[in-house]
Amino acid sequence: MRVPVSAGRPAFQPARDLHYSEVSVAVAVPSRVTAAPPTDLNARIAGLLGDLAAIQTVRPKAVAFRHAAATVFSLATQLDRMRAEKPLPKFPGIGPSSQRVIDDVLETGASATVERAVDASGKRADVERRRTLRDRFFSRAEVIRILADPQLSGVTAADYRADFQMHSEWSDGSTTLPVLARACAARGYSHSAVTDHAHGLAIARGMSADDAARQHREIDEINARHRDFVILKGIEANIDATGAIDVSDEQLAAFDLVLAAPHAKLRETSDQTERLLRVLETPGVHILAHPSGRKRGERAGIVADWDAIFARAAAVNIAIEIDGDPSRQDVDFVRAARARDAGCVFALDSDAHGPDELVYVETALAHARLAGIPATRVINCWPLDKLRRWARSRQQR
Ligand SMILES: [Zn+2]
Repeated sequence: MRVPVSAGRPAFQPARDLHYSEVSVAVAVPSRVTAAPPTDLNARIAGLLGDLAAIQTVRPKAVAFRHAAATVFSLATQLDRMRAEKPLPKFPGIGPSSQRVIDDVLETGASATVERAVDASGKRADVERRRTLRDRFFSRAEVIRILADPQLSGVTAADYRADFQMHSEWSDGSTTLPVLARACAARGYSHSAVTDHAHGLAIARGMSADDAARQHREIDEINARHRDFVILKGIEANIDATGAIDVSDEQLAAFDLVLAAPHAKLRETSDQTERLLRVLETPGVHILAHPSGRKRGERAGIVADWDAIFARAAAVNIAIEIDGDPSRQDVDFVRAARARDAGCVFALDSDAHGPDELVYVETALAHARLAGIPATRVINCWPLDKLRRWARSRQQR
């Protein structure tokens, strides 16, 4: 069934075209969760640059600020630490207006320049709304700090051996299966699943059943060539408004791993617990992927009784995904800690749409470490035979 899609990543939109901003981790966190210090300066600066992008009336200017925001958000080091060592370098894509915002924040912690521009634009309410949608999103520099924090326990990058959400040219990814497979193997993974979209997600050029059969022949050929790496046959099914998925019962058996994810009705404010609970009762679904559908600075995602969803997911042994796409970070460490307490297992995935985005899994690892999730509860850390046993047990339900 073809579902109307109101949101999701348009096929033509480069992943780089994200605007990022401020992070605030000054939140009530469940016991045993270590809160990060509330100073992700790069996220704050990127947020302010995103604010400037949002108020522009001329598209090239908006694009330029979005690009500057993405550049700052993806830096490996916090800008204040960089400047403490030497004068800041000239960053490609960061013009004088963006540089002024960086200087403002490094000098004063805020940007009077941005606040004046927001007031002059008459879009203060919209900007304030966007600012509330940036909580608990980490910049790349903050992710790197969290991964290196010796105070944290839980899953580490060294435990991680397989990525279970990535997209190829068979749907909305930018590259071929052989290239993705080589990139995963180069990261030291023993296996991974390619999870192109199913046909219901037309905006992402989803695969028909015939496409999937042809893709599976290509996967078999690639696996025959690799000695130490296996690509699993995955799919990202779309959860429609009623909680049904766009892969039929007969088709489900053809896949090693089935992700189910919402891509529409993500801005509704009414409760959608029933929609997600229905997915958890679907035999053959393995992973509830980016469960809320939140998007940084854009939407809060699905409103639901998450404790009820996590309790049911634990009971039926469906994994809860922490999606590492920097603009998603769904579920974040606070919600992940609740899923951990409910007894869930987790999938930590990059949601890569090209080989250079496989590194996004580190964002998922950062949230998992803050939530204190052990490697034994992370299906990406299991040996392939254990994963296959778990996957089959889900299919037999
Ligand atoms: Zn998705």
